[in-house]
Amino acid sequence: MGIPSCKTPVYLLEKNENRLYIKREDLLPFSFGGNKARKAALFLQDIKKKNADYIVTYGSGSSNHGRIIANMAVSEGFPCMIISPQEASDNTYNRKMMEYFGAKIIECPVTEVHDTIEQKLAELCQEGWNPYFIMGGGHGNIGTEAYVQCYEEIREYEEQRQLHFDYIFHASGTGTTQAGLICGQLLHQDDRKIVGISIARKNPYGKKVVCDSVKEYLSDVSTDELEEKIIFLDQYTGSGYGKENQKIEKTIEESLRKYGIPMDTTYTGKAFWGMKEYLKEKKVTDSNVLFLHTGGTPLFFEYLKGKHYD
Ligand SMILES: *Cc1c(COP(=O)(O)O)cnc(C)c1O
Repeated sequence: MGIPSCKTPVYLLEKNENRLYIKREDLLPFSFGGNKARKAALFLQDIKKKNADYIVTYGSGSSNHGRIIANMAVSEGFPCMIISPQEASDNTYNRKMMEYFGAKIIECPVTEVHDTIEQKLAELCQEGWNPYFIMGGGHGNIGTEAYVQCYEEIREYEEQRQLHFDYIFHASGTGTTQAGLICGQLLHQDDRKIVGISIARKNPYGKKVVCDSVKEYLSDVSTDELEEKIIFLDQYTGSGYGKENQKIEKTIEESLRKYGIPMDTTYTGKAFWGMKEYLKEKKVTDSNVLFLHTGGTPLFFEYLKGKHYD
């Protein structure tokens, strides 16, 4: 069966100081969409190639990745285990779906996550399974490849419409999405700014992870070049991962009123707000700006319910 894939739509949102476009990764046709669905489709190919028969991953209670992997596992007939940190195990819609999809959720203190994963994988092997481990958030070369492909879609759109995006903005978490976009850019040597708005991580660590991911995918790229290329902004994280912030909430409400597009407090609302602030601060005008809507629809419903989760 596999995960259905399609090119996600791009359209013009508004024209004022700049022309603002949006690419709707939230509309990817699997498990409420989002960047984790694009990554999962490639992981599934690898799982099949390796003849694995048990999927193991890591994710918090509010993880979009956890939901999508659990959904993929049940749709494809694989058993699934999700290691989850006790400290962030709220009973969100994402968590409820992981449970309904039949994933076995193993909670442990965040400091014991690494050892728990090793131990569970070893146990599964002893029981005769061939487990496949996916890093949290779909991090790693396969996740990066998914966003190299997305970059190709963006270039194709530009060619068809005869336009050039001067900026691409998106929410950056584990940095995999950003790494993929930057690899795509390096492969084509085209000129634009790809701006990752950090949703939690601070620099220098946040930027370093993006840099390491790019180097893992493209071995012959210099650190100096990357130092200049990677824009990972950590000043719009609000009060941290998933914490409410009035400006972010105002952004989400505005997006509903003006464009009819749902965003959440953890990722896309934060990134959209950060993008607007950045454009104002840098006095960017007369540019083509693309916002990559990375998904998180179930978290939007948490927001509607009046809740904000880590
Ligand atoms: C995971 C996630 C991100 C961050 O993607 P990374 O590749 O981890 O940087 C952004 N937006 C949403 C909605 C996500 O679920």
